[in-house]
Amino acid sequence: MDIFKPLDLKGDKQIPDIESAEKARCLIIGSGPAGYTAAIYAARANLKPVLYTGLQMGGQLTTTTEVENFPGYPDGVTGPAMMEDLKKQAERFGTEVRFGIATKVDFSGKIHRVTFDEEKVIEADTVIIATGATARYLGLEAESKYSGMGVSACATCDGFFYKGKDVAVVGGGDTAAEEATYLSGLCRKVYLVVRRNVLRASKAMQDKVINIPNIEILWEHQAIDLFGENGVEGMVVVKHKGTPQEEIVRVNIDGFFLAIGHTPNSVVFKDFLETNEAGYIITTPGSTKTTVPGVFAAGDVQDPVYRQAVTAAGSGCMAAIDAERYLSECK
Ligand code: FAD
Ligand code: NAP
Repeated sequence: MDIFKPLDLKGDKQIPDIESAEKARCLIIGSGPAGYTAAIYAARANLKPVLYTGLQMGGQLTTTTEVENFPGYPDGVTGPAMMEDLKKQAERFGTEVRFGIATKVDFSGKIHRVTFDEEKVIEADTVIIATGATARYLGLEAESKYSGMGVSACATCDGFFYKGKDVAVVGGGDTAAEEATYLSGLCRKVYLVVRRNVLRASKAMQDKVINIPNIEILWEHQAIDLFGENGVEGMVVVKHKGTPQEEIVRVNIDGFFLAIGHTPNSVVFKDFLETNEAGYIITTPGSTKTTVPGVFAAGDVQDPVYRQAVTAAGSGCMAAIDAERYLSECK
């Protein structure tokens, strides 16, 4: 009997992963401002970063028109153009940008294993998580029913389809104000559905939205349902809920846009990293260190407070520097 005969491992999903896993010194997950900035710094530090873009190449800013507050663009820039610039800059220094979604991680050892698209495994010395955040929905059954038939969480993506029509935007933050402003340029009428009697948006955005004639703010209104035969034809809203003036009203609209904030994209990491109750990854104050040595988090996925492109980029820079120092200390 040949006791040294090599085992036939074909068909065993686990073991070939280990043998064939690709190695990386610095793996970056996410292609928003945080991911690309981390890549620029990591590449310049010779960490040969591999960056996986996720489904939304370029991140949240690819869903917006003008970005006017990112330093270095005195005349403003469109979100997609800015993200393309960042990508080119990251690639110029040797970042390998790949399309793929992190579907599983194992941060239990010194080498961090990340699986992309359920099959490709990367074994990384350092990981920078820059997976950002995703738009939130109200949780109405009607949102799923009319998905792609009048319900959207991205005005710049879908606004065009509502040219000359009436739409509603739900939310009172900067995104809602911005989406309403954008849609007011395309649509006949925009209802901004605000659950309180104040907007959360910045003063500048508030002033803008309040002064646009075809935007009507529905203060203290909550959308509870949608109706329509083959797509959205209207929404049902509750006015002044919980007060003696409470009233249920039907408003005719063709499009229903959600702009009620975002949820951090941290679910895939949650078994290994500490998060807060909303799911934001906890980092050591003043750094991007997570609770696992060698794993860093940057941008909106770890930032419940600022959530701006420039702060995401800043923390991406920090993450690359933290990763480089960690590797130097490990030598
Ligand atoms: P994101 O931009 O959210 O990018 C996250 C990346 O991670 C994406 O590439 C995604 O594909 C990837 N990803 C997610 N999960 C996975 C996974 N499992 N595997 C692999 N990849 C994954 N801020 C400003 O400063 N100025 C503005 O004018 C401005 N306008 C905005 C307009 C809108 C409509 C919105 C929604 C936000 C706006 N913001 C603005 C906020 C800004 O977009 C965010 O703060 C910033 O994009 C956060 O960057 P990030 O890199 O952390 O994440
Ligand atoms: P946000 O600031 O968290 O605001 C979310 C809004 O949605 C709030 O008004 C909130 O109401 C409302 N809301 C939440 N859940 C709701 C529900 N179930 N029903 C009805 N309304 C609900 O989110 P955001 O506007 O997406 O902004 C996120 C970050 O990106 C912010 O830091 C913002 O400054 C930034 N951003 C910046 C720009 C810019 O600088 N130009 C543009 C867009 C976004 P309450 O107010 O009652 O809580």
